[in-house]
Amino acid sequence: MHPDLGLVRELQDLDHRIAELTREISYLPKHIAEIESKLESHKKKLEVDRASLTANQKERKRLEDDIKVVDGKISRLRDQMNEAKTNEQYRAFQHEIEFGQAEIRKIEDKILDYMAEAETLDQNVKSAETALKQEMAEVEKEKKAAEQRTAADRAELAQGEARRAAAAQGVTPKTLHIYERIRKSRGGVAVSVARDGRCMACNVILRLHFYQKVRSNDEVLTCEVCGRILFYLPPEEAPKEVVDCRLQSAEPLP
Ligand SMILES: [Zn+2]
Repeated sequence: MHPDLGLVRELQDLDHRIAELTREISYLPKHIAEIESKLESHKKKLEVDRASLTANQKERKRLEDDIKVVDGKISRLRDQMNEAKTNEQYRAFQHEIEFGQAEIRKIEDKILDYMAEAETLDQNVKSAETALKQEMAEVEKEKKAAEQRTAADRAELAQGEARRAAAAQGVTPKTLHIYERIRKSRGGVAVSVARDGRCMACNVILRLHFYQKVRSNDEVLTCEVCGRILFYLPPEEAPKEVVDCRLQSAEPLP
């Protein structure tokens, strides 16, 4: 086998892993920012619910004070009524008392409405507090996991980059140039398996004579359609990830 073929396969594997790690390293802070902003919005919602509950309690207190005022007025009217000199005066006081009593009933109805609302608000606040506590613990856990993961990713990335540099140094400059050019123009996949007479990346049928040369793995040959460096791999030796990589990068027939 041409030594470049083994090395470009190694480069390809390392580049896949490096890309994966780089993606994950940049994704994790975004993920953490997302869950933190969700947490923040839940905290704000809880604050709003708490404020509504406080406003409700304040309003009930105000209505209860109103009742006390009307009650005081009624008891004064009763005293005055007892001292009424004429039937007319008596009826006027009585009328005012009835008016006050009706007012109290109206206020009491309002208080009942507020009480019903308070019950719902109170339940909302309590369940939001419980949920928030759980969520905060969850976010902390995820943050810690993301930090550990990022540290591990960075270590693996540094290792992968060092191995890549070493592998790249071993490849002949001409092959490395082809590899880099195709990798940039073909979605990061510069190496393709040749099997069953086809380039498995772009699926083109290779000319028979050319395919026979590819099968020997003695030369660095590129697919005439997609330009990828071809290496022959008998079906029974094809590792699963090579097949998967082919499926991901499969291109339509030209
Ligand atoms: Zn091809």
